[in-house]
Amino acid sequence: MFSGVFFKKSLIGVFVAAFTCGLAMGLTHKVKKAENLYRIALKYGVSIDRLAAFNGIKDKNSLGVGQVLKIPSGKVASPAAKVRRTPKSLRVIIDAGHGGKDRGAVWGGVRESDLNLKVALRVEASLKSRGYPVTMIRRSDVFVDLRRRSQISNRYRNCIFISIHFNATSHTGVRGVETFYVGKRGRFLAKTIQSHLVNNLKVRDRGYKFKRFSVLNDTLCPAVLVECGFISNSYERSRCNSSSYQAAVARSIVSGVEGYDRAY
Ligand SMILES: [Zn+2]
Repeated sequence: MFSGVFFKKSLIGVFVAAFTCGLAMGLTHKVKKAENLYRIALKYGVSIDRLAAFNGIKDKNSLGVGQVLKIPSGKVASPAAKVRRTPKSLRVIIDAGHGGKDRGAVWGGVRESDLNLKVALRVEASLKSRGYPVTMIRRSDVFVDLRRRSQISNRYRNCIFISIHFNATSHTGVRGVETFYVGKRGRFLAKTIQSHLVNNLKVRDRGYKFKRFSVLNDTLCPAVLVECGFISNSYERSRCNSSSYQAAVARSIVSGVEGYDRAY
């Protein structure tokens, strides 16, 4: 009997306390043994910095047992939520040149088809993290003929097509990057990607040029073909083969896509 009354009273007490806390005073938390600011911040879904600032705490490592903390209201975006972008409507079709039985250029043990794929996969990951829908013509070392590449691309509207290649010539002194295009919008995309490549890679600028490569010509959307460096040149080959260079190429292409997306 006694316990029943007590139970009822304490329930009302808890309800009233919660009601007043929620509406008038805001949520509070009494620090228990073995608790730290990090765990409390995590529990209420607020950042540790915000919780500390809200309570005027300078030393985040000194919390007293029984200390009452005010919990800031409103959810604070977690770091993961902060980087999540709004989905983009522009689809990017990434074409890693060659593949399978078609290795492209091969110099000094370096196969163009492998480099193309490495860069393409980096571009894919980066674009997806920015909210772009991406279609990959190939994601492994397989052969895809040129007609098929265009056919896949032509399934989509509101897209751009980017073919990734590395260059080679019997004149082994030749080096630099160049980007080819068809169409007016392709020209803008090529120009934007090329300028990012030159700025980021500090390579020889061979310019952006109109050229009717069949893979570009048969593709309906704005299309470019990026030649990311000469593997026939020994200096450039070792650069092209490094992951830092490949990452910088991918970054440049992604920046080019973003520039294009802002313009159209
Ligand atoms: Zn090629």
